[in-house]
Amino acid sequence: MAQTFDRHRRLRKSAAMRNLVRENHVRVEDLIYPLFVVEGTGIKNEIPSMPGVYQLSLDTLAEEMKEIEALGIQAVLMFGVPTHKDACGTEAYNDDAITQQAMRLIKEAHPEMIVIADTCLCEYTDHGHCGVIHEGEVMNDETLKLLGQTAVSQAKAGADIIAPSNMMDGFVVAIREALDEAGFEHIPIMSYAVKYASAFYGPFRDAAGSTPQFGDRKSYQMDASNAREGLREAASDVKEGADFLIVKPGLAFMDMVLRLRENFNLPIVAYNVSAEYSMVKAAALNGWIDEERIVMETLVGFKRAGADLIITYHAKDVAKWLAR
Ligand SMILES: [Zn+2]
Repeated sequence: MAQTFDRHRRLRKSAAMRNLVRENHVRVEDLIYPLFVVEGTGIKNEIPSMPGVYQLSLDTLAEEMKEIEALGIQAVLMFGVPTHKDACGTEAYNDDAITQQAMRLIKEAHPEMIVIADTCLCEYTDHGHCGVIHEGEVMNDETLKLLGQTAVSQAKAGADIIAPSNMMDGFVVAIREALDEAGFEHIPIMSYAVKYASAFYGPFRDAAGSTPQFGDRKSYQMDASNAREGLREAASDVKEGADFLIVKPGLAFMDMVLRLRENFNLPIVAYNVSAEYSMVKAAALNGWIDEERIVMETLVGFKRAGADLIITYHAKDVAKWLAR
């Protein structure tokens, strides 16, 4: 019979053949694990909407870090949840606040661990917005000053990477200047360049205690309908000196991972956010899906779209699966 079609199945014939021609891989080195630190001792509060994810006090964080390092995870993203909150988020840039204490503790016990600091105000403000408020408006330029102070305080506490997340215009250059002035010109900035105002952050707000007390974040985070705008956001951050670009949320906006990959040569980071995690966990707990396969497909999807790194609450599970 004359061949009138292509035989794609030749390369799928056996597990060894499929391994041979596999285009993308998820490695433990690609994973960044988020951590939520609270004040007090002996605290390990499971987030109800995020089974397996905890708010940790410094002592339980120390235990958790041993486990994380033993699993081969080499980067963590730190969120602090202070008891005291006020209008201008003072605990964000207080050198002795819970987040800074946690960073010092991790760097002392695990000097090789890459500590990435979330740099925002919403976990620290009593109104839950990501910046300073004036007559109901989130003030851009006043907030930049506080972000610069926060980044410097975090760098002093040992942060290896500063990750600004609040979508203020000019946050990368403001932080770059503040870091450079304080002698931290070697600290890179991982910018939340393309961050949508998204319902996929719901469970995170329980974890970080950062639900806005009025209004929403649509005046600073991007409209979920817009892709070209994301390229403008990323271009500004690159011009301002960003060293990494984050897309958040990752799963529903994987087109943006690909667009950034095609337009910029910086490392691209996909944030596999809280609700993406919660949906998988809920379905898995009901026995409706194969959790491991769903998670691995999702993560390799990020890699295929062009992500170099993935921030994910599944990191510990994935590290275990990869080590088998
Ligand atoms: Zn924020």
